[in-house]
Amino acid sequence: MIFRQLFDNVSSTYTYLLASRRGGEALIIDPVLDRVEHYRRMLNELDLRLVKAVDTHIHADHITGLGALRDATRCVTVMGRQSSVDVVSLRVEEGDTIGVEGLSLDVLYTPGHTDDSYSFLLGDRVFTGDTLLIRGTGRTDFQNGSAFDQYESLFAKLLKLPDETLVFPAHDYKGDTVSTIGEEKAFNPRLQVSSADEYAEIMNNLNLANPQMMDVAVPANQAIGLVQDELRASGWVLTARQAMSVLHDPEVALIDLRDDGERRRFGEIPGSLHVPYTSLDANVAEGGLLKTLCDSTGKRLVFYCAYGERSAMAVQLAQAAGISCACHVEGGMAAWNDIRGPIT
Ligand code: FE
Repeated sequence: MIFRQLFDNVSSTYTYLLASRRGGEALIIDPVLDRVEHYRRMLNELDLRLVKAVDTHIHADHITGLGALRDATRCVTVMGRQSSVDVVSLRVEEGDTIGVEGLSLDVLYTPGHTDDSYSFLLGDRVFTGDTLLIRGTGRTDFQNGSAFDQYESLFAKLLKLPDETLVFPAHDYKGDTVSTIGEEKAFNPRLQVSSADEYAEIMNNLNLANPQMMDVAVPANQAIGLVQDELRASGWVLTARQAMSVLHDPEVALIDLRDDGERRRFGEIPGSLHVPYTSLDANVAEGGLLKTLCDSTGKRLVFYCAYGERSAMAVQLAQAAGISCACHVEGGMAAWNDIRGPIT
């Protein structure tokens, strides 16, 4: 496995780059905007293709690199279901997995630092965001934080992992890089409590100043959606209602870009063809399924996904590959559900 722990020395943030092999697909956790060029250079050097960029929660102390990485690499942006961001490509919740070639991360909902805090378990290691830090825990006094929720996330979830599990947090301010669950149980001063009330008493009396960048970072991190003006100006967009009106049109092919897990959980628009977003490059190329479908049948290709981000990027890719009949459903399945479109 390729595993890189990268550090932003301005915000003391750790970013993790993961891949199963050189030349393969990669995933990045908690990228920092100012470091995006550095990540891209590293991806290039290691011959990796970034397919997913994940934030553990909405950060208050730095601006996320999710949007910039998506714009540069067309990767899928991932956050939790609770995150109050304008849009990400994929939302996850407890029990989901986040997969890239050869790697699968288990999704653990660990609220408390914020109400959208997640941790991700990958075999012998867990990425704990700001829920569990090395000899500390993330503050719980803003962004809908809750000391009681965090107590549950820690004691009922993270500390139940095997003692030897490696702990990789989103920050460290003292120079430590990694710990273990057993070590934190034994030596983390915040965890030496016997009740949720006792934990809350500690957390509610920290009296910390707000992060310097909070007023800038939080709004910026909530507005990370793909800018879709160009698509609208080009007429490559259908509203959910327009998509409904062409549902049984033989001249239209609806293409579902979501992963299998999303399709199982949320259903699909009847009559859709499934072409996962990550396989799009080959499918829009000369000789690929979608290019052939468009050239041989003249059908209009209508992409859709969960929120209309992957489908917007798919339209850009398809149009660039000469598939001039490609458009997408703005707002994706979320918009489709809003108008109570049929689902199978
Ligand atoms: Fe945080």
